[in-house]
Amino acid sequence: MAFSSENLAQIHARIAAAEQRAGRAAGSVTLLPVSKTFGVDVLREAAAHGLRRLGENKTQEIKSKSEPLADCGISWVMIGHLQTNKAKEAARLADEIQSLDRLDLALALQKRLEIEDRSMDALVQVKTSPEPSKFGMAPEAVAQFLQEVAQQAPRLRIQGLMTLAINDPDPEQVRACFRRLRELRDALAPAAPAGVSLARLSMGMSGDFEIAIEEGSTEVRIGSLLFGGRDYAAK
Ligand SMILES: *Cc1c(COP(=O)(O)O)cnc(C)c1O
Repeated sequence: MAFSSENLAQIHARIAAAEQRAGRAAGSVTLLPVSKTFGVDVLREAAAHGLRRLGENKTQEIKSKSEPLADCGISWVMIGHLQTNKAKEAARLADEIQSLDRLDLALALQKRLEIEDRSMDALVQVKTSPEPSKFGMAPEAVAQFLQEVAQQAPRLRIQGLMTLAINDPDPEQVRACFRRLRELRDALAPAAPAGVSLARLSMGMSGDFEIAIEEGSTEVRIGSLLFGGRDYAAK
């Protein structure tokens, strides 16, 4: 499958239109291309089109892609559920994690980041949807978690929050998830611990990113709309 610069242009146009509709500044929303299941050939083309920051949901997949793409200058962003025993790989391979959702993971990452002598940007994943299949921290737990990370895992530089909205045909159900994340951020920001920023809100995917932008998203994570349908069996 070849990389489609038309898809990329269309997504940028839709992001710009949504920013304008929402009365937000042009360029206030970043695109995070989600490259999971897509092969290194298309990602090499994507990098040539300037897409050098890519979201993946498995450390194993970052590992297998980062070697053949080592010359492309790609920065990998972990967006999927991370088991604590994969913290070592994540701390080595990823520049950022958006799926930080519990203290034991934060502590495991801190330990590995000390060994690697580096730090990592992080977003706290919050569960805003009632679906049991969705990961994330309960909204009520985030305030305390921010304090704990600031004190016990300072190599994680918290930059904001991330969520996945409910899968629901009713756009108002989806909107409610995004709104919950923004309201949580607005409530927590004034008392955020030193060194913790809540400026970023990563929310919105191929099917719902325009609603997310209307609700204050600063980063949309888009896979299938950019790269085409995913074939999990083939990869
Ligand atoms: C796969 C994935 C996306 C992108 O999904 P699309 O619907 O293909 O745009 C975004 N966020 C997370 C956490 C994902 O796992």
